[in-house]
Amino acid sequence: MTEKRLILMGPPGGGKGTQAKVLQEAYSIVQLSTGDMLRAAVVAGTGVGKQVKAIMDAGNLVSDEIVIGMISERLDVEDCVNGFILDGFPRTLAQAEGLDSMLKEKGIVLDSVVEIRVPDQNLVDRITGRFTCSKCGEGYHDTFKLPIIADSCDSCGNAEFTRRADDHAETVKSRLETYHKQASQLLPFYESTGLLTVVDGDQDMVAVTTEIKRVLDS
Ligand code: ADP
Ligand code: AMP
Repeated sequence: MTEKRLILMGPPGGGKGTQAKVLQEAYSIVQLSTGDMLRAAVVAGTGVGKQVKAIMDAGNLVSDEIVIGMISERLDVEDCVNGFILDGFPRTLAQAEGLDSMLKEKGIVLDSVVEIRVPDQNLVDRITGRFTCSKCGEGYHDTFKLPIIADSCDSCGNAEFTRRADDHAETVKSRLETYHKQASQLLPFYESTGLLTVVDGDQDMVAVTTEIKRVLDS
């Protein structure tokens, strides 16, 4: 078994979720998406869900404490022992520092930090065209990845799809501004660890996967 512990960084719509789903199959590791966890909390109507719903709908970041706590608990679950992909976390320097100390405490060592880089002008289309299977979470796109059979999920055959409440053009600009502001601190932080590799995300999905696998296998 090849154990991989990585952070997948990138802008909203950059392809982190798409790539994480392929990598989790390829390496038998788990995808830990703070966005997915928070959306599940909103749907379940938990205390955290109620606290974060409006913040998420507006495209703003939820508090560092909430996401650090969620990831710390999630890393203790047994399915993480073979490795994990952090998707959408850390997003701020405080989260990166929090992760650093939590990993040290848990005796876990990161293998890699991959930044998927995509020009801003492509991300509006990526985000506004995004939809997912409401049953299994498989991701699709109005232009770039439609189900092979119309209205039927390629993975599970389900006929219902959902669009995210925050995926509209109005939030994209501020989400991208936030990403760049935070990334300008996060990228130097991970560069200094020697773990960071930038991958060109402005190519088809399979080519992006090939590049990421090359990094992970090297
Ligand atoms: P993120 O998790 O980084 O927010 P997603 O993986 O959800 O991004 O991708 C955003 C949208 O762009 C999805 O609809 C997905 O199908 C599509 N997408 C992902 N990667 C690519 C790519 N390389 N080329 C074109 N579209 C892509
Ligand atoms: P994502 O699915 O990664 O695009 O995240 C969707 C939304 O969840 C974000 O716009 C934030 O509101 C929230 N969120 C997800 N991850 C984080 C994080 N690491 N820090 C703060 N907010 C987050």
